[in-house]
Amino acid sequence: MSEESMCKKTLLSGQAGFRVHYCETHRTIELEIGAMSLRLDEDALEVMSDALDESVSKLQALHATKGSFQAFMRQLNMPD
Ligand SMILES: [Zn+2]
Repeated sequence: MSEESMCKKTLLSGQAGFRVHYCETHRTIELEIGAMSLRLDEDALEVMSDALDESVSKLQALHATKGSFQAFMRQLNMPD
């Protein structure tokens, strides 16, 4: 194996069960999710990040909508 093919990894984010490494040699992102690992190119990380952000906000909006819908239904069922 030549020097060039040696990975030079930097930890970008490390949480329990979810780590993100960047390999400077291959310009790839490595996600470690539990026992699974996933290799992406740099652009794919940005796409994934946008998709996750969008998903989190939509999920929060969905929960908020459900919460207010349930509150509304409770008001209808139990008039003061
Ligand atoms: Zn590498």
